Amino acid sequence: MSDSAAPQRAIVIGAGLGGLASAMRLGAKGYNVCVIDKLDLPGGRGSSITQGGHRFDLGPTIITVPQGLRDLWAACGRDFDRDVTLKPMDPFYEIRWEDGSTFTMRQDEAAMEAEVSRLSPADLKGFRKFLGDSEDRYWFGYENLGRRPMNELWELIKVLPRFVWLRADRSVYAHAARRVRDPRLRFALSFHPLFIGGDPFRVTSMYILVSHLEKAFGVHYAMGGVQAIAKAMAQVIRDQGGMVRMGAEVDEILVENGRAAGVRLVGGERLEADIVVSNADAGHTYTRLLRNRPRKRWTDAKLKRQRWSMGLFVWYFGTRGTKDMWRDVGHHTIVVGPRYRAHIQDIFINGHLCDDMSLYVHRPSVTDPSVAPDGDDTFYVLSPVPHLGHDNGVDWTTEEEPYRQKMLAMLEERLLPGLSQHVSQSLVFTPDTFRDRYLSPLGAGFSIEPRILQSAYFRPHNISEEVPGLYLAGAGTHPGAGVPGVIGTAEVLAQLVPDATPAAPLRMAAE
Ligand SMILES: Cc1cc2nc3c(=O)[nH]c(=O)nc-3n(C[C@H](O)[C@H](O)[C@H](O)COP(=O)(O)OP(=O)(O)OC[C@H]3O[C@@H](n4cnc5c(N)ncnc54)[C@H](O)[C@@H]3O)c2cc1C
Repeated sequence: MSDSAAPQRAIVIGAGLGGLASAMRLGAKGYNVCVIDKLDLPGGRGSSITQGGHRFDLGPTIITVPQGLRDLWAACGRDFDRDVTLKPMDPFYEIRWEDGSTFTMRQDEAAMEAEVSRLSPADLKGFRKFLGDSEDRYWFGYENLGRRPMNELWELIKVLPRFVWLRADRSVYAHAARRVRDPRLRFALSFHPLFIGGDPFRVTSMYILVSHLEKAFGVHYAMGGVQAIAKAMAQVIRDQGGMVRMGAEVDEILVENGRAAGVRLVGGERLEADIVVSNADAGHTYTRLLRNRPRKRWTDAKLKRQRWSMGLFVWYFGTRGTKDMWRDVGHHTIVVGPRYRAHIQDIFINGHLCDDMSLYVHRPSVTDPSVAPDGDDTFYVLSPVPHLGHDNGVDWTTEEEPYRQKMLAMLEERLLPGLSQHVSQSLVFTPDTFRDRYLSPLGAGFSIEPRILQSAYFRPHNISEEVPGLYLAGAGTHPGAGVPGVIGTAEVLAQLVPDATPAAPLRMAAE
């Protein structure tokens, strides 16, 4: 630690949204912050790649709780809405089934009820009940547990009765199935955990709170993509006097006199700091960046035993001259495959790459002209697949192209007829890409799966149990993955880190 009593210099490993939000919070607390990331642009999974005039926003597309971002900016004395333009989506998204039936999600209550009645009039009462259940879980799970530290066992014990009362042991799907009978509605009310890496048949029903989030706060798109949010965050950090250093990979967290004392980069450069925040995946943080430290809790063996979220196969593509084609295809579409439970079982439990798939299709060019050349479209299509840790692991070097071809065939048949004649740009991410680009253990899409015994107190803590002066933010910590989740990890972190004394410059020295 530096000479004065309170710490001053902070290093944040990783410029994912959780890392950037942490850096902003630390800047607001008076720290001199340096963010380090191996990529060329900030945002982590929320960064972008531009190819042939198409900007591919690589990850998050749906912003559900704008207030979390507004609170973050306000904590830094800034106004989010001056820096980023959010556009409310109406409808939110459309779900399409094989039999031709559809379901359109909207914020408007009457419109939603009309949709439910159109599919299954008998389920209207159950649907209303489900929304009530969702709101109860929002107040407890999101506003209470999700916004405060959960690193003390006592914090968990205090809330156990409430967990029992809310039947947190039940899965999201089981809860939806208690309220509605129509299998399509059961899907529509239960698939959301997939957006944060959870198996809907096994993650706790606390996550049904997402339905309330959408209803209460809407679904938004950030003009310029989530990349625009990440760039605005980096600018706030610079305006606070901090630094965002891209293209640098951290090799190890330095520990001196029993405390985190800085980092060593690949190449040997050392950066000293009074506190270190790791936004790298919690698994990578412990198994790689602290590989030379004995660990009490997050040993390699324990991390290996965790259940990790699924992997993702994402095909980013541009299409030429299609602006006036596929007029019925909006910004967000979910194309449901023939199987639900068995398909999820294959992905999460059996680790089997299936021939059938369910797809999330993103077409930002209907909302944001900056993503594609005039007259063209930019898309991404995402399919959940097994992560790389299953015994019968998928060899993506041989499977990538056949899988993309299957995806193309399904898109042509179900959503975008004639697609193959218009594709002008193409880029594929497999779990191998997630492993190599984001240093994500097992190439998982969303870090440790949010099962009940891997959530809150049971998740890697925001204040490290292993090394004093080390803190964690991002999807693998509390409260968890997703944009609101990782912005929340920074809010929790700020409650655990002491305020700084006036900042001193970072010292750098070659080893
Ligand atoms: C395809 C996809 C779609 C998604 N859609 C949505 C959505 O619509 N809505 C939503 O809310 N959420 C969505 N999510 C989830 C959300 O994007 C993530 O949970 C969130 O962005 C993760 O943020 P993070 O802070 O954990 O950091 P990450 O994005 O994981 O970033 C971590 C950063 O750390 C860097 N790093 C790691 N190790 C090192 C090292 N040793 N040295 C230097 N740098 C290092 C990496 O390069 C990376 O930039 C989506 C995710 C994906 C992948």
